[in-house]
Amino acid sequence: MKLVFATHNQNKFKEVQALVPDYIELLSLTDINCHDDIPETEPTIEGNAKLKADYVREHYNLNCFADDTGLEVTALNGAPGVYSARYAGPENNADANMKKLLQSLEGMEDRSAQFKTVIALSLDTSEMLFTGICKGEIIHATKGEKGFGYDPIFQPKGYDQTFAEISSEEKGRISHRGKAIQLLLAYLRGD
Ligand code: IMP
Repeated sequence: MKLVFATHNQNKFKEVQALVPDYIELLSLTDINCHDDIPETEPTIEGNAKLKADYVREHYNLNCFADDTGLEVTALNGAPGVYSARYAGPENNADANMKKLLQSLEGMEDRSAQFKTVIALSLDTSEMLFTGICKGEIIHATKGEKGFGYDPIFQPKGYDQTFAEISSEEKGRISHRGKAIQLLLAYLRGD
């Protein structure tokens, strides 16, 4: 079965590809020759995931799924949330985003946060949403070189390493995106 994962982010594509069984041929936007910057203009994570999946369905008429993720920080009332990519400005710069977040949390005791991923699946016959959540905390300074985005400052619950210090396989097992993908795969298997 061919399935498009509507992303230009190679880090995300690799993370997800490692979790998908061989019977699914995962294609990226580049693989289908889509170089468009798909708009993410909805005010919710769910809305943006659906917007991206619908875009591929409308323009390419292919079975596909899209994900949207936000980092929700308790002490900031769920910010940056749906605006995680552009928290410090439109250029989606991970270092600037992390710097702004660390500054916003200065002096705050509650460092708890969660990543939330919503996957929107668009098949010929059905549309579905799957949600994965990973709880943890924002540490005080960056640690680790792996991963992307906010990984160097996010320490998942039960770990003393950040997402940027663990392997992508391990991240895939416990992460928001990994959990949402497992729900998607269970649905595709008919579990
Ligand atoms: P997107 O909707 O998946 O593109 O995610 C929005 C933003 O959230 C990204 O630009 C990253 O800054 C951040 N993000 C998403 N997933 C992760 C992750 O697994 N680790 C760290 N940051 C992430």
